[in-house]
Amino acid sequence: MDGMLYIVPTPIGNLEDITLRALKILRQCNVIACENIKHSLKLLSYFNISKTLIHYCSYNEYSQSNKIIALLRNGQHVALISNAGTPAISDPGYVLIKKVIENNMTFEVLPGVSAFVTALVGSGLPLKSFIFCGFLKRQNSKVKKELYKLKLLDKTIIIYESSHRIVKTILLCKEIFGDDTLICVARELTKKFEEFIRGTIDQVIDVIQKKRSLLGEFVILIYNCGEKV
Ligand code: SAM
Repeated sequence: MDGMLYIVPTPIGNLEDITLRALKILRQCNVIACENIKHSLKLLSYFNISKTLIHYCSYNEYSQSNKIIALLRNGQHVALISNAGTPAISDPGYVLIKKVIENNMTFEVLPGVSAFVTALVGSGLPLKSFIFCGFLKRQNSKVKKELYKLKLLDKTIIIYESSHRIVKTILLCKEIFGDDTLICVARELTKKFEEFIRGTIDQVIDVIQKKRSLLGEFVILIYNCGEKV
């Protein structure tokens, strides 16, 4: 009989956010596929879990997916984790999930942490309808094109961003959405220096520019009423 693939979310900061079910699966599976072995070893050793680990990252998703399918065919139970949050959400995982489905195999997705859900709920922006964009494209012209398309939607827009691009991206949002658009920057969620900076784009830029350093991980949320076309 085939083994089972489990997609297992892990904390985005606070280790207490791991679920009991996630711990059970990580303890019971035969193999854990992880994005970064060194990073995951820290998490697993914190919970006293010692397993065979294999590397599954964006560079080897195709070849490692085949290897994982072979393990599953061999009756091995495999858990997939990423560095933080839910695998396949702006993280490796999609290729494997697709292959498992194509091979008519079964898999289970454990519910758990994802930075964008925590950020959205804490943002104070409308929750009824939203769009998760993950990381924006890198090239300036492509980002602008992407933001102009988003401007047409009547939704809260969610974007993942790194510390070295956060100011640049917010300034681009100001250019495209306008100074008075409501925005929230959620930083270091579930960690010691967690903060939500809320206000108009101009107010948020003001707060950010007064800070001496702007380190950590960020989610940008923009409430856009949609532009009539
Ligand atoms: N799989 C993850 C999830 O489910 O949220 C996302 C992984 S993606 C490679 C990393 C990005 O997620 C960061 O650059 C940041 O935008 C966001 N992120 C992850 N952890 C975060 C945190 N603690 N606070 C704010 N944003 C976070």
